[in-house]
Amino acid sequence: AKVAGRNRHAWFDRAMERSIQARAELETGLRIAIPQAQIVPFFEQQVDLATGRITGFEVLARWEHPTRGLIMPDMFIPVAEQTGMIGELSLSVMRQAFTAARDWDAGLTLSVNISPIQLRDAWLAQKIIKTLVETGFPASRLEIEITESALFENLALAQSIVGSLKNQGIALALDDFGTGYSSLAHLRALPFDRIKIDKSFVGSILDNAESAAIVNTIVRLGDSLNLPITAEGIEDDAVEKRLCAIGCTKGQGYLYGRPLGAAHVRRLLAEKRLL
Ligand code: C2E
Ligand code: CA
Ligand code: CA
Ligand code: CA
Repeated sequence: AKVAGRNRHAWFDRAMERSIQARAELETGLRIAIPQAQIVPFFEQQVDLATGRITGFEVLARWEHPTRGLIMPDMFIPVAEQTGMIGELSLSVMRQAFTAARDWDAGLTLSVNISPIQLRDAWLAQKIIKTLVETGFPASRLEIEITESALFENLALAQSIVGSLKNQGIALALDDFGTGYSSLAHLRALPFDRIKIDKSFVGSILDNAESAAIVNTIVRLGDSLNLPITAEGIEDDAVEKRLCAIGCTKGQGYLYGRPLGAAHVRRLLAEKRLL
């Protein structure tokens, strides 16, 4: 038993070591990936549910790793947040996204995700506005998506940053609503223009009565607060139909298309005469 115990520890130590090493490699990799613009924007269509027309895109970060291929954000965003690189990463992705989108149809918007940690940077609004000016992308076509509890760590600073962004005409969306990271209290703390319903509710709306009730309630809440709703994670027609019936106006999800790189978006928009 003693030997087995020791072996177990040895196994555990080796697994630990491997994961610590993997993590360290991710961190050093990320440190050079950001300035080399290996972290690129992908774009996921957002559509008007009533007409099916594209209204804009959510910007989603991807790591085009030189040897490992495409790495998804769940792998590297937390590392960037924990190592102080998220601000640089975010601005690099925004710069590339704004540059790509500035000559798309003038009606198309971009929604960009901001990590709550970035709301501790007193210069965040100035940095975003500078990036807009330098790339020539209009502030009125930008929406910023915010999740999270950590808003309350420094609410006064978050409010002042958001105030500066809104003064420029940038819109604000409360992301992942209902998941526990975003709550009713947040709706009052910051001047949101839109609520996004998380895909965990949307995907199960047809076969789970609780999900249906929650989505219904969020849409009605949005109605009474005058906040339009975007539903995320729409994968089939039946879900789209139900959301439409409930009164949801905007949606996104694999039904309309997977997130695409800038070159693919250009081709898609050319076909639709939206360039
Ligand atoms: P999110 O903001 O909730 O973004 C939506 C996620 O759902 C995306 O995953 C998207 O690809 C996925 N999705 C969209 N439609 C569907 C669908 O119909 N079915 C399914 N199964 N999934 C769908 P992704 O790109 O892996 O992003 C994961 C998360 O990483 C995002 O969640 C967001 O919180 C974060 N993230 C991505 N890019 C950035 C960024 O530039 N900055 C920050 N701070 N966070 C980012
Ligand atoms: Ca989002
Ligand atoms: Ca999110
Ligand atoms: Ca979500």
